[in-house]
Amino acid sequence: MSDKAILIAGGGIGGLAAALGLARKGFRVAVLERAAELGEIGAGIQIGPNAFHAFDYLGIGDEARAKAVYIDHLVLMDALKDERICAIPLDEPFRQRFRNPYAVVHRADLHGVLLEACRASPLIELRTSAAVERYDQDGSGVTATLGSGERVTGAALIGADGLWSNIRRQVIGDGSPRVSGHTTYRSVIPTERMPEDLRWNAATLWAGPKCHIVHYPLKGWQVFNLVVTYHNDAPEPVAGQPVDKAEVARGFGHIAERPRRIIEHGENWKLWVLCDRDPNQKWIDGRVALLGDAAHPMLQYMAQGACMAMEDAVCLADKLDKAGGDFARALPAYALERFIRTGRVQLYSRLMGDYIYHPDAGTAALRNAALGAMSPSDFYDRLQWLYGGTGLGATA
Ligand SMILES: Cc1cc2nc3c(=O)[nH]c(=O)nc-3n(C[C@H](O)[C@H](O)[C@H](O)COP(=O)(O)OP(=O)(O)OC[C@H]3O[C@@H](n4cnc5c(N)ncnc54)[C@H](O)[C@@H]3O)c2cc1C
Repeated sequence: MSDKAILIAGGGIGGLAAALGLARKGFRVAVLERAAELGEIGAGIQIGPNAFHAFDYLGIGDEARAKAVYIDHLVLMDALKDERICAIPLDEPFRQRFRNPYAVVHRADLHGVLLEACRASPLIELRTSAAVERYDQDGSGVTATLGSGERVTGAALIGADGLWSNIRRQVIGDGSPRVSGHTTYRSVIPTERMPEDLRWNAATLWAGPKCHIVHYPLKGWQVFNLVVTYHNDAPEPVAGQPVDKAEVARGFGHIAERPRRIIEHGENWKLWVLCDRDPNQKWIDGRVALLGDAAHPMLQYMAQGACMAMEDAVCLADKLDKAGGDFARALPAYALERFIRTGRVQLYSRLMGDYIYHPDAGTAALRNAALGAMSPSDFYDRLQWLYGGTGLGATA
């Protein structure tokens, strides 16, 4: 095993999970994060059972579980008719089937659990204000050049630097991500501001033509997470820009009053123009590997981007451990195993957007009839490939 640290560009959920996984297998790691502080945006995230396996592998199972809200259902509502289409129960049969729960958690809490565990590890060094601009490599290591001009050398480099990854630009060079034209607005409100008749212990999706609304409780029910999306053909990528309520409401004039009113209760809305990419299997360049959104950015319609990043971290640590730190063997094996599964989630996320979240007319009627006729075990069977995965072993 090399005495040099493995460098990780990016200290988001993927980068910190990778740092923890590698450190738990005895590798020294240096995380190089561009921002001045390590943190996450103030919004929620859904966590499938597959991510709980990753928490346990990373040794943070108890801490992560303690921060989560355990919802009872995934509810799909028709936003035009104000009618329930279906609800997937997340009770004991679900937990037994997938050996873990489904939950929602505040991003900052999840990132905080990962960060605390990284800080507690003597094998992990965390550096901020350290943007990785580019890398060079030879047979014995990788040198990352930071924005400041400083050069940092390590045994290998993991590009966990997100959607606009500099590392991907060098590994693949496939240009900018695809701008989807779908704009998402996020708000987190105190629970008492959420209409009482909608305070459901569920991740609720109101699906309407070219728009949808998602809400669920967070932080021990102190707040509700609101995520609303509509197609506005936004041409440019934007992330986290504050906007007024009138702009958010503009995409929802055509839906029923009850879901439409949810937007009235939001405050401090911020917008993101959603981007993704087609699957691309070139994740590896010698001693450099991509992970998380840098490798497989996806639309959020399967609520799996962060879950996949955590699975990546598990797989990477496992492959390097089994290969005794031989990067030439471990990195291609990691990419091969992860590419099919993450590529499937990338493409299914687009399909979910088109056929479950945003269809109109006959396609929406077909969605309602088909999903409305399914039993819990029908849903579980169809979700087995996804929620039954762990990051260990090729599940696609
Ligand atoms: C609206 C929305 C809802 C979502 N909901 C869910 C959900 O419910 N469940 C789920 O699993 N996923 C969800 N996702 C997806 C999830 O947020 C992402 O897939 C996940 O955060 C990706 O993590 P990452 O660590 O790969 O990248 P990021 O979180 O983007 O982290 C990248 C890190 O790298 C840093 N960085 C960037 N460039 C550099 C550089 N050059 N050098 C050093 N550091 C750099 C950044 O500052 C950042 O800290 C959602 C996404 C969106 C947009």
